[in-house]
Amino acid sequence: MGSIGRQPTESAPLPPADEHIDFAAVAARYREEREKRLRVEGLNQYHSVEVAALKHYTEDKWSQPVSRAPVSETVDYVIVGAGFSGMILAVRLIQAGITNIRLIDKSGDFGGTWYWNRYPGAACDIEAYIYMPLLEETNYVPSEKYARGEELFAHSQRIGRTFGLYEKTLFQTEVAQLNWNEDTRRWDVSTHRGDRIQAQFITTAGGLLHKMKFPGVSGIDTFRGHSFHTSRWDYDYTGGDITGNLHKLANKRVGIIGTGATAIQVVPQVGRWAQHLHVFQRTPSSVDVRLDQPTDPAWAKSLRKGWHQHRMDNFNNLVAGAPVTEDLVADGWTNVLAKVAVNAKMVADAEAASDPIAAAQLIHQKMQTANYKKMDQIRKRVDAIVKDRATAEALKPWYNYMCKRPGFHNDYLPTFNQSNVTLVDTQGRGIDRVTEKGIVFDGTEYELDCIIYATGFEYLSNDYSQRLQLSIRGRNGITLEEHWKDGPRTLHGLYTRHLPNHFIMSITQTALAPNFQHLLNEQAKHIAFVVAETMRRGATTVETSQAAEDEWIRTIIRLGKLKEDFLRECTPSYYNDEGVISEKTLKTGRYGLGAPHFFQLLANWREKGTMAGLELDGKPVVPGVDLTDENIRVSGGSDSAKKEMAKTAGVEAVVRLL
Ligand code: NDP
Repeated sequence: MGSIGRQPTESAPLPPADEHIDFAAVAARYREEREKRLRVEGLNQYHSVEVAALKHYTEDKWSQPVSRAPVSETVDYVIVGAGFSGMILAVRLIQAGITNIRLIDKSGDFGGTWYWNRYPGAACDIEAYIYMPLLEETNYVPSEKYARGEELFAHSQRIGRTFGLYEKTLFQTEVAQLNWNEDTRRWDVSTHRGDRIQAQFITTAGGLLHKMKFPGVSGIDTFRGHSFHTSRWDYDYTGGDITGNLHKLANKRVGIIGTGATAIQVVPQVGRWAQHLHVFQRTPSSVDVRLDQPTDPAWAKSLRKGWHQHRMDNFNNLVAGAPVTEDLVADGWTNVLAKVAVNAKMVADAEAASDPIAAAQLIHQKMQTANYKKMDQIRKRVDAIVKDRATAEALKPWYNYMCKRPGFHNDYLPTFNQSNVTLVDTQGRGIDRVTEKGIVFDGTEYELDCIIYATGFEYLSNDYSQRLQLSIRGRNGITLEEHWKDGPRTLHGLYTRHLPNHFIMSITQTALAPNFQHLLNEQAKHIAFVVAETMRRGATTVETSQAAEDEWIRTIIRLGKLKEDFLRECTPSYYNDEGVISEKTLKTGRYGLGAPHFFQLLANWREKGTMAGLELDGKPVVPGVDLTDENIRVSGGSDSAKKEMAKTAGVEAVVRLL
């Protein structure tokens, strides 16, 4: 790829792992810490923001309300959500010739996550050169390796301007209902502003992490001080802006609840300004080095056509263990993921061995050893930075890498050396309650002027339409909740039976690339292809067949077993439904052979051009296609190996072991 190169990075390596780690002792500690955190309530332990007393936390602080007359129109396509997923889809549709599009979003501008999350210190921790979408199309190179929130938001606006999306978008508008109308063979879209829109196709692109959640403790609404959630930062109260300078906190006692990826970015900022900061921790995050650096202009100039896709592919292949000759991104993700997460190559290697079970055991052992070592390094980093021994001990994560979303920051751990910052380690229990004056843990009431909830968002296993806060009703009035009552049902994560012409952009039953934008781009390309092809063939509706949906779910569950034991042994988090693993967890999960494999599967499907598994105008496109065979074929490795894998009990055991 000509001069597409590796940008020089300042390296700040983790301390080396111990030569001799007592694996049995570490495993026992992992179990012990996990036990402390398991709760019978699982996902139901949190307060939903829909509780009346909490609803005010969701108010939009970034845009003034605008009034407008209701819209009544007919379009080809409605996209619900104008974050990166909705925007990428709009662009790919426009490129495929489908321009009569309407985007709808409840926020006041583009950006989704990056519209709402304007907390001080917000930044991406996947490299910006691969995380930011449509860079070549917008002729833009990010200003630094890990772009800050304001640059990410500005890029959303740039995409909006470049592709004329502002004229196509209804902001500050919440979709209330999506109803399939069998008479018109279109979707009736209604909004809380009284809009009535008919659309041939729709996509729900509502994002993954947008519906905030709160600790399931009493007293949140009784607190007399000030409080807010990180995704609605109150700069009127704190002073400053997304870059920091929170000067109004100088005489304030602040409590931050939560120590996830958001808190890691927020804590150094608040710690710099608050009179005193108490950080209430339930489980420590793994906090790795972040190789911050500005973009070298000479490097940016040297980039040639195709660099963006090439770099995204390089990262994606590398973290999934596919053979690559160079590591362009070279950061905390690429140095470890291929070693600790099961991937298609491992499965293929085990299958090809003369004794597949022994081979799988060996791979499993290697993977676990690499994981122990990585976490040992993460804990050593805490020791190297945090001076107070008790605080350092409390900040050490005791669980496998990737049980929780890994964090990356250079200022988080040093913040705990400041005399105005106190870690309140709740040892897995969480805070006991909120009072009028502050937060109570273990008999001590911490008096506070301000509480900041860094307690995250509802995730996949919470009902899809409830999470999107809208009702979706398909053919014969069947709702998405009814169809998904035993867990999600899709083909390729994109279409679901009874909801014709409806496409989903999410990560359920699809592959999760650590670089989420890469997945969104592949999904958008695929949807645009299917829609254009449906139109080209003169059909009005496209829908997955029942057989294809059934088969895809079987594939997802079967390959989900590759990760089941790993998830079961993990400390609770949203990655493993807070430790309560069921078949629904596997159904909600991802395609088990990884993102490169899944993207290839979609590309092969498009190339084949048969629209296998889909019905156009209610009729199978390829009559009599053997879908079982199709999906075994696409589920990994060579055709014959995969058939064997499905048939041979021994190889099923390999799947189990890995
Ligand atoms: P998380 O869900 O990751 O973290 C929530 C935090 O709140 C956890 O530390 C959790 O503890 C804690 N918590 C929950 N209940 C209690 C309680 N009762 N008492 C004390 N603590 C409690 O949310 P985040 O907003 O941090 O991150 C969400 C996601 O957003 C990330 O996983 C990541 O995918 C994304 N993100 C990405 C960034 C990027 O750079 N690309 C930056 C920031 C976020 P416990 O761990 O015990 O559950």
